[in-house]
Amino acid sequence: MESQIREIHQQLVEKKITCTDLIQAKLDLLKPNAYNTVNSLLENLALEKAKKVDEKIKNKQEIGLLEGIPFGIKDVYMLQGTFTTASSKFLKNYKAPYTASAIQKLIDAGAIPIVKENCDSFGHGSSSENTIFGAVKNALNKDLVAGGSSGGSAVNVAKNYTTFSIGGDTGGSVRQPSGYNKVYGLKPTYGRVSRFGLLAYASSTDCVGPIATTIEDVRIVLNVISGVDAKDQTTYLSNEISEKEISRYDDIKTIGYFKNFIENEAIDATIKSDFLASIEKIKSKGINVKMLDFFDSETLVSTYYTLAMAETASNLSRLDGTNYGNRMEGKNLKESYSSTRSENFSEETKRRIVGGNQVLSQGFSDEIYTKALSIRDQISENFEKDFQEVDIILSPVTPNPQPKIGESLKNPLAMYLSDSYTVGFSLGQLPTFTIPQGTATGIQLTAAKNNDELLLKFANFLKEVL
Ligand code: GLN
Repeated sequence: MESQIREIHQQLVEKKITCTDLIQAKLDLLKPNAYNTVNSLLENLALEKAKKVDEKIKNKQEIGLLEGIPFGIKDVYMLQGTFTTASSKFLKNYKAPYTASAIQKLIDAGAIPIVKENCDSFGHGSSSENTIFGAVKNALNKDLVAGGSSGGSAVNVAKNYTTFSIGGDTGGSVRQPSGYNKVYGLKPTYGRVSRFGLLAYASSTDCVGPIATTIEDVRIVLNVISGVDAKDQTTYLSNEISEKEISRYDDIKTIGYFKNFIENEAIDATIKSDFLASIEKIKSKGINVKMLDFFDSETLVSTYYTLAMAETASNLSRLDGTNYGNRMEGKNLKESYSSTRSENFSEETKRRIVGGNQVLSQGFSDEIYTKALSIRDQISENFEKDFQEVDIILSPVTPNPQPKIGESLKNPLAMYLSDSYTVGFSLGQLPTFTIPQGTATGIQLTAAKNNDELLLKFANFLKEVL
């Protein structure tokens, strides 16, 4: 199976390249920061690690598959001793005191972190423009947005500046930028990968997700980062996914898609026709296709944003200048809190904190927050029913193609609505995978909980069909 990780591994073992040269070449590609993907380069750390890999190879010691492979990290993950800014003014000078579990597992497997990547501040956004490091540019066309919030990670992978990157997906932030830059991006089942050391946005949907150029690389990385972690009580034990298992797909008999996602005025005409053409190609291979009913986009988006804002307002209350980040001194403690928070959070983040506190406050919480929780339960029930009928649900990743840089900032509501195909699956905590084929922004495959393997299988099939 096609895999960049395997290819590089082979070259290292056969001494066709040295790890130091490989890492240096990637760092040189990242240095000009042509797409605004770089928040900080991990030059010394990466070169030191590369030297050790080279020594091992020189001493004829065996190296693991991920050893020496350069990867990028969305700048919301802790990596001890390095800046972890969340692309925010608040944490601009904050250095992580420990390392996130998923990142530690990759480092333990020998992979080399080379860059902390630009993203929407605290994961708040769908375009990677809500950042103090400048808007990330799309890998295919620099006038367009990279997508968000893991825009820097998707662009680095698409430009081959990193072999893979670790993004974070709360409501689409791995899947949407992957679609916008035409690479693979997986949001695993919630709890498959530990969130420990990921700066919390909305804890009930936050997921750690790999972005790569091949399905096999996604599989390799996923296997390494998955598993129970005592530091995240929502993690569960999952089986390793084998290469063999995902190369056969004869057990996928029926797929479905949501009628109302497609028969909708908000969808771009070309995305719609490309999506339906893809469905026809799949049908022609003998797979049954069912149309399914689902909640309308407005309900999904409002439910997601109600819960995400409530959770982020609560999670970000710890940022008051006392323990972390920039502090602005005021006349008294209350004023210090107030100026610290108003000066250091972006407009978008403040909008969400205000919105979140509003939906949680007395007099509103029953009508808004509790109602959103109950709709979320209904959404999950809906999915359970669907997956009794179909193996996989297909959908476009976004209703519209990549917007121009600057457009999304003018209308936050329109930006929230652009998430309408990704957020529902997040609320259901389901595994969802963006593949770069099918439409201008890719296609999203979703399976029942803990069925991540099925997605990789079907993606392999679609690689040949679409
Ligand atoms: N665009 C969505 C939001 O702003 C999703 C972001 C994410 O997954 N971090 O909430």
